[in-house]
Amino acid sequence: MSSSKQKSGQFVVPGDRLGVIEEFVPGPGTYEENGTIYSFATGRALVDMLSKQVSVFPKTRFLPVPKVGSIVTGQVREVQSKTANLRIFQVDKHPISGSFTGVLHVSDVSFHYVEIMHDACKPGDIVRAKVVSDKNRTFHLSIKEPDLGALHAFCSRCGNVLTSRGAQMRCLKCGKIERRKVAQDYGKGGIV
Ligand SMILES: [Zn+2]
Repeated sequence: MSSSKQKSGQFVVPGDRLGVIEEFVPGPGTYEENGTIYSFATGRALVDMLSKQVSVFPKTRFLPVPKVGSIVTGQVREVQSKTANLRIFQVDKHPISGSFTGVLHVSDVSFHYVEIMHDACKPGDIVRAKVVSDKNRTFHLSIKEPDLGALHAFCSRCGNVLTSRGAQMRCLKCGKIERRKVAQDYGKGGIV
């Protein structure tokens, strides 16, 4: 009984232990593994004293959704000649639990003319971008500005991290030279 009082109203994150099935019934926002109940969400734990059900109510302000003007970080998934798809995992410096897909068009890569997307990014790259439109529930991205673009890029031949020399990227392992649109803090370590 004392543990349920402690848990009710408590702020929890995914994976936090909420109790055991001998004591509680797992409710929404929780999961059970080997007899132990854990939180599946970030939010407030709530225990119903009558039904003994423990639930977690997600706290929405910890679940940011990209909007126009948001700075997002994502990993490049698929690159075609004029577009690239990114899986967004961070919005305005907050890691997000779900994932959103962002679309980058070749005309939003640089203030200079870029003909083909493969000269700007490749699958696997970690890219910082700005949301310029959310028309039709699609997040359209831009990496034109100096602080936007690749933060980490990988050699398409051997997978080693590329070293930046302006627009030219060099793999110090196999010597391959590639092109990217990089952020001005490329390779400095941070992904925010
Ligand atoms: Zn290489």
